[in-house]
Amino acid sequence: MQTHILGYPRIGSKRELKKACEQYWSGKILLEELLTTGRNICNHNWNIQKEAGIDLIPCNDFSYYDQVLDMSLIVGAIPVRYHEVALKKNNSELDLYFAMARGYQKDGLDITAMEMTKWFDTNYHYIVPEFYKNQQFTLTSDKIFNEFAGAKQAGINSKPVLIGLVSYLLLGKEKEEGFDKLDLAKNLLPVYTEILTKLQDQGAQWIQFDEPFLTLDVTEKAKETYQYVYRELRKQFPLLKFIVATYFNGLKDNASLAVSLPADVLHIDLVRNPEQLADILHTVPENLSLSLGVVDGRNIWKNDYEKSLAFIKKAIEKLGTERIFVAPSCSLLHSPCDLDFETALQPEIKNWLSFAKQKVKEVVSLKALASGTEDESILADFEDNKKAVAGRKTSSLIHNDKVKQRVAAITEEDAQRKNSFRIRKERQQESLQLPLFPTTTIGSFPQTTEVRSWRAQFKKGDLSAEQYDALLKEETQRTIRWQEEIGIDVLVHGEFERNDMVEYFGEKLEGFIFTKNGWVQSYGSRCVKPPVIFGDISRPDPMTIYWSQYAQSQTNKWVKGMLTGPVTILQWSFVRDDQPRSETCKQIALAIRDEVVDLEKAGIRIIQIDEPAIREGLPLRKAEWQNYLKWAVEAFRISASGVEDATQIHTHMCYSEFNDIIKNIADMDADVITIECSRSQMELLNAFADFKYPNEIGPGVYDIHSPRVPSKEEMIELLRKAQNVIPATQLWVNPDCGLKTRHWEETEKALIAMVAAAKEASAAYA
Ligand code: GLN
Ligand code: ZN
Repeated sequence: MQTHILGYPRIGSKRELKKACEQYWSGKILLEELLTTGRNICNHNWNIQKEAGIDLIPCNDFSYYDQVLDMSLIVGAIPVRYHEVALKKNNSELDLYFAMARGYQKDGLDITAMEMTKWFDTNYHYIVPEFYKNQQFTLTSDKIFNEFAGAKQAGINSKPVLIGLVSYLLLGKEKEEGFDKLDLAKNLLPVYTEILTKLQDQGAQWIQFDEPFLTLDVTEKAKETYQYVYRELRKQFPLLKFIVATYFNGLKDNASLAVSLPADVLHIDLVRNPEQLADILHTVPENLSLSLGVVDGRNIWKNDYEKSLAFIKKAIEKLGTERIFVAPSCSLLHSPCDLDFETALQPEIKNWLSFAKQKVKEVVSLKALASGTEDESILADFEDNKKAVAGRKTSSLIHNDKVKQRVAAITEEDAQRKNSFRIRKERQQESLQLPLFPTTTIGSFPQTTEVRSWRAQFKKGDLSAEQYDALLKEETQRTIRWQEEIGIDVLVHGEFERNDMVEYFGEKLEGFIFTKNGWVQSYGSRCVKPPVIFGDISRPDPMTIYWSQYAQSQTNKWVKGMLTGPVTILQWSFVRDDQPRSETCKQIALAIRDEVVDLEKAGIRIIQIDEPAIREGLPLRKAEWQNYLKWAVEAFRISASGVEDATQIHTHMCYSEFNDIIKNIADMDADVITIECSRSQMELLNAFADFKYPNEIGPGVYDIHSPRVPSKEEMIELLRKAQNVIPATQLWVNPDCGLKTRHWEETEKALIAMVAAAKEASAAYA
């Protein structure tokens, strides 16, 4: 029996990588310093695994931005528009890499970033590879070899992790017509061969190919490509040991395909789909070993050893110990780094938790226990584990009967506005009096270093509550004035009082706890610190009324109230695994509903309930979609339906493909939706060609995830495209998402241009 880890968090237990990248981007540190930080993190991670006693330790799971972008660079899938960046004489490989991730606007160049989208059903985002007909690939980067060598120096013969060839192609997008990305497998294979040859020469024995697409619906063509690719690789590398890693769902009907691939080990996710073990054990051929993903890589709960051991024993009975690997369910990228830093957590709750470093130990203990160890410290760990698991089931911290009763009493009417959109629209138009092509933003304005430092000082006690409040008021007021000045129609207060759109609400709700350092990478240098939902959820007091009311009192224009929706709060939190997600979601929906009603009472007439995460909650298999969408849409509607017709409910969504759920989005029945669009050049709009979106909609006209300032002309062009499929009377004009990560300088330029674009579009229409 062996243990292995599919990938370890790379952001650093104190977010060292985030800080170093951002300093490098702003010119505060040199390349060498950034590279040193990267190397230190790798070494730190390897040592944790080595000391814990993991048998196969990964390399190339580290990344300066994103592992998919790393693959694109390694295989030379570099879109032509970036070639000039590479030619600038002071630019390194990493500068080219960051240009692809973030866009490039200097040295007389103005190049947009590559598209970014969510990684399966996680809140991690990857950079989408761009594919062209007959594209050729060449080995372009040494990163993976350097990392392998680095691990070797640390005394580890590591297991390089690659995104499997088929999954890499499936993650990308065809950028021209007339071919299928899978056709590129033949051209790409020689580069994979070259990579493996070099790794083998360096002394690698194991290669992990991540093929998460094997857990999705797989087309015939993809099946053939899988068989072709692995047959070829096997032929060329009879001695390398291949691990094919699948995760985020069960193999289900792809099980026979997966076990037929000429790999040495197949990794399966037994957290997401425990049922698959029986099927796989039934079909696994003699020469294939199984890696059992029993420790949850996506959540923070302590593993239930007894449950995991039952799986492992079942597998041993069938395969014997030699063919068994014990592992986390997926890469630990999606877990926070180290629970040891959480010194302030309530001990009872802390004892239920486990982060990446602790999960590594769990994997090692499970192997020892399954091997019948007599090691006392491991047996003691087992006893502690049993106590923690049992304690959580019965703890009085978790259960609130009032909340359970209120959820049980929810009726269909609670999820219905009083009247249909047609009637609401009239009433809203009457009371709001908005122009054609109304302009608005998504909520947040730049969270400058200053704003963040006030919050830090306030938390430390260096600023009093009054001082902090006064500073925030000043910033809010200034932002209101500025929006008035440049002529935005529906204003926002700016969200300066908020650290994060989920954390802010979680902190005010009961049933949540917060970690100090539980950061998880979201994209690039961006990390999130998901709250932990451990118990029944309720809202003891109003959460946003104070700031919304203050902002509204400063202007005669409308200010939008700004809330995070129930599905997003659920999706971006670590959730309970002791009740269905739908149940937890309803509890949150009721809390948000109360807030919406209170905002209306406080005189707020436009209320936005953000649901950017609704799509990422979709099950990976289509057959499971409808069930999820039903409860998710219903939860949103429960949160939105307590108000009068004249109150306008907005929602916002971003960074997902929405085309295939556009009908369900319409079912949410928000009066207005603002939605991300511009990175994909309004591809979203294709959905509206056949489906008439009934309510109002603001397809984002510029990408806020890049510092690049868009021109007025570009935005007019996007608005023109939008009008081809959506009547002008339904259109809003807004950026793709909140402006929190941007600087004021670029924000000002961009929004002034956006307002001008809306004015021109409106004039052209009249
Ligand atoms: N209202 C939030 C903001 O503007 C929305 C953020 C998001 O969609 N991710 O920051
Ligand atoms: Zn957004």
